[in-house]
Amino acid sequence: MRGRSIKKCAGCGDHRSEVELMRIVNNKGEINVDPGGIMSGRDVYICPQITCLDAAVENDELSNALKIEISDSIYNKLLEEINHG
Ligand SMILES: [Zn+2]
Repeated sequence: MRGRSIKKCAGCGDHRSEVELMRIVNNKGEINVDPGGIMSGRDVYICPQITCLDAAVENDELSNALKIEISDSIYNKLLEEINHG
């Protein structure tokens, strides 16, 4: 059953229910935020807040998990999701 599993935030390292976290997916080279948890691909979870996004970028957890370099456009897309999502 979805929504019951515990995931680790790549930024602060806290363990939280996956429904509380933002799922980021590398879908064939395109980075998407996947609130429904239905996209396939490499994924990573962060708390939906800027501090955790920044931490995950700085500690390379995001790029390592997604196997992609976090460009400005990817970063801005994620930032927008946090601000408006
Ligand atoms: Zn966090």
